[in-house]
Amino acid sequence: MATLKLRWDRFHSYTLWSWTAGSQHKTAEVVKRISATIHTARLGPRSEAPSEVVIIKLGRGEAAFEKLAREADIYTNELRHLQGTVVPKFYGFYKGKVDGIDLGCMILEYCSGLPIWDAREFNRQVMIASCKIHQAGLLHGDLMNGRHIIRMGMGVRIIDFSSAIHHTCTNGVPTLLGQNHSRERPGPTCCPELVNLERTYGIMTDAPTFFEASVAMAQFWRS
Ligand SMILES: [Zn+2]
Repeated sequence: MATLKLRWDRFHSYTLWSWTAGSQHKTAEVVKRISATIHTARLGPRSEAPSEVVIIKLGRGEAAFEKLAREADIYTNELRHLQGTVVPKFYGFYKGKVDGIDLGCMILEYCSGLPIWDAREFNRQVMIASCKIHQAGLLHGDLMNGRHIIRMGMGVRIIDFSSAIHHTCTNGVPTLLGQNHSRERPGPTCCPELVNLERTYGIMTDAPTFFEASVAMAQFWRS
């Protein structure tokens, strides 16, 4: 069992607990609000002044807590091998009660990248990252508006797995199509999320429909 001392401001601090194997005693000091549930913080071992900038994501109340616990579970299981490459590093999930209400706190790597970057390289990395997540057995579920694709150094990180579902991807590679594809049958092996991402970030960025994207993709790979 490990504790997290969460310093909210000069007047409020809370102690939360983690029973996850390998968790360490830590202190987190909230720095800045990003949204109601997401803040930047400084993190460090309990006995030292916290210095590492991280993201903390909070779930307050039973439903929000359960949702956050599920997301933490995804980071530590399906996404464990992708931490620090295409998803943020996961630094722990701590829980407790504040004023009798459940509070969960997930700690993640703070991600920021260069503002100017080659768009084609960005798109290529988005497609590779998305495919890796599908290969890990997850459908993200909320990638199309771009809010959950962020730059990290010269790479990308995909964040927020609160809408993710388990998914056996029929073809989690950038080509998207299987051998059974034909013009009449756009391919039983198409994965809808990857095809839609391909239309936004891939080589078929101007295909107007799922069907046309599928057909155009098949023609591209046969040519
Ligand atoms: Zn898929």
